[in-house]
Amino acid sequence: MVATESQKPVCPVCHQADQVQTLQEAYESGIERFAPPPMPVGHAPMAMTMAIGVGVIALCSFLIIVLLVPTNFPWQAQVIQAALTVLAIAAVLVFSFFAFRRSVQGDLQSQQLLPAWDNALATWGRLRYCKRDNVVFDPQQTPYKPLSDEELDSLLSVKAAGGQAGEKSERIAQRAS
Ligand SMILES: [Zn+2]
Repeated sequence: MVATESQKPVCPVCHQADQVQTLQEAYESGIERFAPPPMPVGHAPMAMTMAIGVGVIALCSFLIIVLLVPTNFPWQAQVIQAALTVLAIAAVLVFSFFAFRRSVQGDLQSQQLLPAWDNALATWGRLRYCKRDNVVFDPQQTPYKPLSDEELDSLLSVKAAGGQAGEKSERIAQRAS
């Protein structure tokens, strides 16, 4: 056997290498279920919060401009208007603070998932697929054996490994307390 051929993993079912592809090649040839594991991202609805904040600030600016224009309102009305404007600005600041905190927490959650995602991506790059027999196998396992759909799912799932990351941070929290 030629050296380059022996390096190529051989299918555990048909024992040939000619139809063996990486999952990336299989995915690019149109097999959707071999999509690479998606990168974990935070789900804090920052855009919505910011849109509301911008709207309230615009309203405040409008009130301030109205306030600066001399009117024939009684001074009590102007004081109430000023108080409302200050309250609205304070509300926006508090609101932004909580929105910011939520988005930071979302980032932390995705950061915890990153190692798991890294692993899943490395596994995804390592696994091989035999087109002839429609089987996936791991060239690091000896002897090679076909992986079931469940095994493939758990190997490529970022969520399952994310549970471990959650446990880890829980343990760190317990140690800290
Ligand atoms: Zn095969």
